[in-house]
Amino acid sequence: MNDDLSPERRQFLKIGGALLAAAPMVAAAPAVFAAGGKGPASERSAKGVKGVLTGHWANLPKAKGPRLVVVGGGTSGLSVAKYAKKDNPRLDVVLVEYRDMYSSCFCSNLWYPDIINLEFLAKHSFLDAAKNNHYTYFNATCIGLDRDSKIVATSEGDIRYDYVCIAPGIAYDWEKIGIDDIETQTRMRQEYPPGFIDPTEHVTIKRKVDTFEGGTWIQTVPTGNYRCLPAPYERACLIASVIKHKGLKGKVIILDGNPEITIKAPGFHAAFKDFYKGIIEWMPSTRVAGVDLDKKIIHGEVEDFAFDEATIYPNVRASTLIEKLGLMAPTSKTAQKEADIDIRFYNLVGDEHVYVSGDARPMPYSKSGNTSNSEGHFVGHIIAMRSQGKDVKKWESPETLCYSMVNAYPQQAIWVDTHYGYDAKKDAITGFADVKVDNTPSEKNAPAYLAWGRGMYRDMFRA
Ligand SMILES: Cc1cc2nc3c(=O)[nH]c(=O)nc-3n(C[C@H](O)[C@H](O)[C@H](O)COP(=O)(O)OP(=O)(O)OC[C@H]3O[C@@H](n4cnc5c(N)ncnc54)[C@H](O)[C@@H]3O)c2cc1C
Repeated sequence: MNDDLSPERRQFLKIGGALLAAAPMVAAAPAVFAAGGKGPASERSAKGVKGVLTGHWANLPKAKGPRLVVVGGGTSGLSVAKYAKKDNPRLDVVLVEYRDMYSSCFCSNLWYPDIINLEFLAKHSFLDAAKNNHYTYFNATCIGLDRDSKIVATSEGDIRYDYVCIAPGIAYDWEKIGIDDIETQTRMRQEYPPGFIDPTEHVTIKRKVDTFEGGTWIQTVPTGNYRCLPAPYERACLIASVIKHKGLKGKVIILDGNPEITIKAPGFHAAFKDFYKGIIEWMPSTRVAGVDLDKKIIHGEVEDFAFDEATIYPNVRASTLIEKLGLMAPTSKTAQKEADIDIRFYNLVGDEHVYVSGDARPMPYSKSGNTSNSEGHFVGHIIAMRSQGKDVKKWESPETLCYSMVNAYPQQAIWVDTHYGYDAKKDAITGFADVKVDNTPSEKNAPAYLAWGRGMYRDMFRA
């Protein structure tokens, strides 16, 4: 046990800024070691440690086969965990997720006008997903990685891996919209949540929609490859739908950093014109450059915009975990701080034991649920094959199938369904391929949207 506080180990805990944080855990360690086996310190080198190791093993049963640790139980991680185990039942799969309740980002816009209820998004259990698909759900936060010793560290102890897949999603990049002081960033998260990461943001926005009495609601659209391209436009339509339905004196201004609607443009333009004339005002090429929360003003690059209510969506970047674990690509490769992986087979460049999937990937795919889910099938397959000493030679494109509800009364939706191309000579993803789209808002598309959402939950949580 005292091995664990060797000078070398003290040094790297200090470097990780974790000496204080780790001390109580070390004090509690004997019981953990008894349950989890021999302490890890003697087997580790400090070289290659990113983030923080805890100094004790996580309280998990001994691995019964090659161990795959999946970090992040969102759309991507749930899919990777299930399909890796399916394709190689010998794998001992552990899903590390810091949330203890699931609620999906996809479909969350539909809750605001009560097309669905909260149960639709949240009545899905990590425990059931794990039981149904024969893996272990471990409720903890990933805090470090030692690639030399193949150890992933969590707030509940360290786990040895044979393969690890990191799927932590995105983070907001406030600085890109001129909000660079931590005080305003904190206020933004609490007072005007963008609603693109945590379920608690959706609850706040739902409360705001329910209590909105009229005036100006601003929805901003960032530049870059942000999470779910159509979602800010869909949300604007659904809030406008509520304003219209309730007969409020109100409007939604969309401040769009892009010169054109980024996806399904003809469908959204049709909705703005046919359903929300005088209610939705779409302002292209209007980037946010700062906010004054006390005065309720958004500073554009050219003019200011006053608001009564707002959902301000900043640019996005990969989850800060990617950077913390040292998996980030050089900024010359991605300005959004995504991971440095093989763009076909998802392993970290130079390390076939470490994978990154979902919205933290650097490829120019739509950062969306269907993309992460279909990709998760493939990443699970790659890990399953490689863990059996087999190679995977053929790249598979993910599929982006994405519905948008553009009206709530009656329910009308549009959709796009696309794959992607790969140029072997340039070793680059070439963009959309095999695109199908329905840009005519229709009632027949609405139940198909809900069926798609249910299908996603079924695929991630059931056997
Ligand atoms: C409002 C909204 C509408 C959307 N609409 C659609 C849509 O209509 N269609 C569509 O296809 N997609 C849609 N999406 C996008 C879709 O939800 C995401 O793109 C998709 O879920 C990304 O999956 P992911 O697994 O990469 O990330 P996430 O689903 O965000 O999962 C990441 C997980 O990692 C966990 N995590 C992070 N850090 C750690 C850590 N250190 N330790 C342990 N766990 C950690 C998080 O708790 C989270 O559960 C929408 C998203 C939003 C927000």
